[in-house]
Amino acid sequence: MHILLMGPPGAGKGTQAAELKERFNIPHISTGDMFRAAIKEGTELGKRAKAFMDEGKLVPDEVTIGIVAERLAKDDCKKGFLLDGFPRTVEQADALTGILDKLGLKLKAVLNISVPKEDLIERAVGRRICKKCGATYHTKFNPPKQEGICDACGGELYQRADDTAETMTNRLSVYEESTKPLIDYYKKAGVYTEIDGRQPIDKVTADLVATLQA
Ligand code: AMP
Repeated sequence: MHILLMGPPGAGKGTQAAELKERFNIPHISTGDMFRAAIKEGTELGKRAKAFMDEGKLVPDEVTIGIVAERLAKDDCKKGFLLDGFPRTVEQADALTGILDKLGLKLKAVLNISVPKEDLIERAVGRRICKKCGATYHTKFNPPKQEGICDACGGELYQRADDTAETMTNRLSVYEESTKPLIDYYKKAGVYTEIDGRQPIDKVTADLVATLQA
């Protein structure tokens, strides 16, 4: 089952991906997570990506497409994947079409978690992530039982460097300009479904699962 998970920053892609990956037993491939891991490890890729990420800009296509092509060619992607945060430009979408053709894979669904612009800054600014297991929380909408501590593993929660109101403003305008056109791109391809991301987390998951099982 080869799936794209789309949506503006703060729509809840990461939260939903964590659920879907368990249910369908497919790898969750997030370009944002790959870049953050590279930054943590201090690799060349991480150094290149960091400057763009800190400003809420897109990492250049030639860097991003390369890492995705490499990742999707791994064996675990044969049975499926959940691609989150890629593609974000029409050029990336064209590149993905080429990569999948080469690998003999076909997208089953493009799921767009839709949330109105007004809600997105509040969602991102309140987001907290576990340092240890990566579980995501929100200070208001999905708080952990104990402030700053992960319910699942007891790890310490942190805030992403780019989850500030200022960076989010840039990320949202990048989304509007570069990523939103992909909605039409995948509508034309006949694989697109929109899910209402304002619903409770469980209901969003249920809608996503229902679409995938239809
Ligand atoms: P995310 O975790 O998906 O919100 O991504 C965090 C940041 O990583 C983005 O704001 C970009 O700077 C960078 N990034 C992630 N995915 C891509 C992509 N497909 N193309 C370019 N930059 C990306």
